[in-house]
Amino acid sequence: MGKRPIWARIIHLIDELCSMGKDLRTKCALFLDRDGVINMDTGYPHRIEDIVFIDGIFEFCRRAAALDLALIIATNQAGIARGYYAETDFLSLMEWMKGRFAEEGIEFLDVYHCPYHPQGIGQYCRVSDERKPAPGMLLRAMRDHALDLARSFLIGDRDSDIAAGKSVGLAGNILFAPGYRNSESQRVDSDADAVVATLSEAAVWLENRVRPTSRKLDRFE
Ligand SMILES: [Mg+2]
Repeated sequence: MGKRPIWARIIHLIDELCSMGKDLRTKCALFLDRDGVINMDTGYPHRIEDIVFIDGIFEFCRRAAALDLALIIATNQAGIARGYYAETDFLSLMEWMKGRFAEEGIEFLDVYHCPYHPQGIGQYCRVSDERKPAPGMLLRAMRDHALDLARSFLIGDRDSDIAAGKSVGLAGNILFAPGYRNSESQRVDSDADAVVATLSEAAVWLENRVRPTSRKLDRFE
């Protein structure tokens, strides 16, 4: 076997550079549940007047985005399956919500929702692998946006959120349990990697875990 011709080595080099580029482009995400994390879960909120934002949500999103985490909403919307509101109601509410976040300097990479429920009605009555705790929405986001799930995070207010994140091996799953420290006797039994009472605590937790190497290097600059 002789040496590879120069053109073969050039093609090999280009191929190497392209795959390096692909690795560099791989995004990491923060998946956010909507009801109970972004806005109060007031029981199937679906109109603008139903929306009460959770304290600190804008600041939390800005701090996550500063860690180069792409913000993605993944929300079960069984209210559509149950006939409480239409899928178009959900979509227009999200347009309004994205506009509100844009005013705060925050952009979502994407929004995924699951309108199905096994006890739903009509076309929405079915078991769906996108309904959390199943991880279908996270997997679809990974394919759509070339996400690195092993370096991505999730925040939710229910065990079904945490289970979805765990099942695809996310780097960290945060359970947002507002007020859980109000009672010393109240125990939070969860598989989550962190349980936080405020979104500010969640931001600190993320900041301590994302890119610890580069953050360490920053201190020497
Ligand atoms: Mg929720």
